[in-house]
Amino acid sequence: MFSPCIDPGHGGRGWEPVFNLSMALLLRTALVEKHPEWDIEMTRELDLINPSRPARAEIAMMHNAQFTLSIHANASPTGDPREHGPLWFYKDEVGPEKQIGKTILDALFGSGLMPRGEYIEEGTGRVRPMKGNMHQARPVGWTRRSYSVLRHHGSRPAGLLECDYYTNPKARAWLESMEGKKQLVVAMIAGLETAEGLLVPKGPTP
Ligand SMILES: [Zn+2]
Repeated sequence: MFSPCIDPGHGGRGWEPVFNLSMALLLRTALVEKHPEWDIEMTRELDLINPSRPARAEIAMMHNAQFTLSIHANASPTGDPREHGPLWFYKDEVGPEKQIGKTILDALFGSGLMPRGEYIEEGTGRVRPMKGNMHQARPVGWTRRSYSVLRHHGSRPAGLLECDYYTNPKARAWLESMEGKKQLVVAMIAGLETAEGLLVPKGPTP
C-alpha cells in the first residue's frame, strides 16, 4: 500500500498559507476518491496550526510516509509582478524525486494552457524565459532560499511544488480559479501515481 504525505506548505497569515491548505485539501479529496487504498497523511489540516519545518518532516516520518509532497505558491524575491511559472524542487539528483516532478510538470505543460514561465535575471533585471522548471534544492537554493523542509526529510523522498507565482496577477488569478486548481490536482495525482510505481515494491497480485 502506498502512503504519501501531503504537506500544505507553511501556515500562518497571508495569501499563500490559505492557498496551500485549500490546494492540499482538494488534492486529498480527489485522492480519497481515486485511490481509496492509499494511506494519506497531512502535515496540517487547519489554518490555525502551523507546525515548524522540522515538525512537519517529523509528522511524515512518524507516519512512515513513502513520499512527501510539499505544496507552495511562489513569491518573486524582488516582488517583480512579471515572474511566473511552476517550479519543482527535489533533493536527490538520482532517485524518484526527479521523475515525480517531471510527471507533474509534464502534466501541467501538456495541457497546453500553461507556459513554462519567465524569471527576472539577476543583475540585468531582464525578463528571461524559464530555462528549467526543476531544481535540485541545495543548502543555498536556486532562489536564495534553502527549501529546508526537504532537507529535514533526510534520505526519505520528498519534493516541493511551487504551483506558480502569486506575485504575478495573471498567475494568481489562475491559482485562484477552479480550472487552475483542477489542473494542479490532476498533475499532482499523476505525480503521486508515478511515486507509487517507483516506491512501492510490486507484490504478487492475488
Ligand atoms: Zn511557500
